[in-house]
Amino acid sequence: MKEIILAKCGELVLKGLNRISFEKTLIKNIKLALSPLGEFKVSVVQSTIYIDKDGGIDDIEEAYERVKRVFGIAALSRAAVCEKDMDAIRETALAYAREKLESARSFKVMSKRSDKRFAYNSPQICSDIGAYLLKNISGLYVDVHNPDVVVTVEVRDFAAYIHCGSDSGAGGMPYGSSGKACLLLSGGIDSPVAGYMMAKRGLKLSAVHFLSPPYTGELAKQKVLSLAEKLSDYCPGMELYLVHFTKIQEQIKNNCREELFTVIMRRFMIRLADIAADLSGAGALVTGESLGQVASQTLGALSITDELSRHIVLRPLIGMDKEEIISISRKIDTFETSVLPYEDCCTVFTPRHPKTRPVLSEIINEENKLDIDTLVKNASDMITVIKI
Ligand code: ATP
Ligand code: MG
Repeated sequence: MKEIILAKCGELVLKGLNRISFEKTLIKNIKLALSPLGEFKVSVVQSTIYIDKDGGIDDIEEAYERVKRVFGIAALSRAAVCEKDMDAIRETALAYAREKLESARSFKVMSKRSDKRFAYNSPQICSDIGAYLLKNISGLYVDVHNPDVVVTVEVRDFAAYIHCGSDSGAGGMPYGSSGKACLLLSGGIDSPVAGYMMAKRGLKLSAVHFLSPPYTGELAKQKVLSLAEKLSDYCPGMELYLVHFTKIQEQIKNNCREELFTVIMRRFMIRLADIAADLSGAGALVTGESLGQVASQTLGALSITDELSRHIVLRPLIGMDKEEIISISRKIDTFETSVLPYEDCCTVFTPRHPKTRPVLSEIINEENKLDIDTLVKNASDMITVIKI
């Protein structure tokens, strides 16, 4: 029995004239996600995506899991394919649904007939296939309101499809359909979630990470690499820019007032993230900041870092509680890695009493004690890129 994957386009169906270009991006992304399993045929007809492979999909479970992670898909199901002929549909429905029906008590058949030339209409298909399944599997009854199993028969242009239930897709917009942004990726819980959320809205991501050897070690770097790798399940082809931050942090510590250290450091991060964004062709920055979470995420501190950036700074977690963020990080499987206990460059020089209401003029006074341009230039000259 031939089995394929059927999926439903998500929000992009609301697009007008440029829907075709969103669909093209989605098709490309599905093919890319499936590329380790071979070359797939993917097409979209009236918001339904057909995912098939010459000779059949041999590893359909793995293929299905991969398609589940592709943004732009509202729902998906595995489906058996057969000829548009009632005998073939009966036999295929019985063979395909048998295992599920044998362990169920109730069921119903649903039908969609987009090929209006097919001789049976939807109610006729439902009652015919329902009766056939009842006759061939004992102990079953029909429950149209609350069935254990729903068998769906779809009669479409080129074939009939039978499936037994669907799963939610990843939702959102096709990855890369909304432009590109550079994610400030730390080793913490928040920033991978922030990246996931913006990728879900169609932004292609690059990432920048600041490290401070020897204060931060090899394990901290490996942790960020594995977070980037986990994110790349959703964000294929991500580049990670590594910035050595030690010199800058030492200079701030040695020259500036301790309670302003964090805000000044974050302003350097923004200057360098702007450069990483330029290098990767990104038009925005993304951070994992959430209002009030720590001293550097008060409204005052955020405005002072914001005013410096040459790019718009997107903060998808700004209104979220930690618990909400953690539940997404578990869902995307970054949580366990994020909580590994390695030092981040931010925690190396944390002031004892960071100022929660910094004043811009005060910050600028302190920064003027440093040779900002040279520090930024030296750090940016040493940026290294890793293709994830
Ligand atoms: P996270 O859990 O993402 O580390 P956090 O709650 O620890 O966030 P901060 O350390 O204040 O918060 O960092 C706020 C944001 O700044 C992070 O979400 C991330 O986007 C960015 N950031 C912090 N440290 C780094 C770093 N070493 N490299 C890149 N970006 C960083
Ligand atoms: Mg952090």
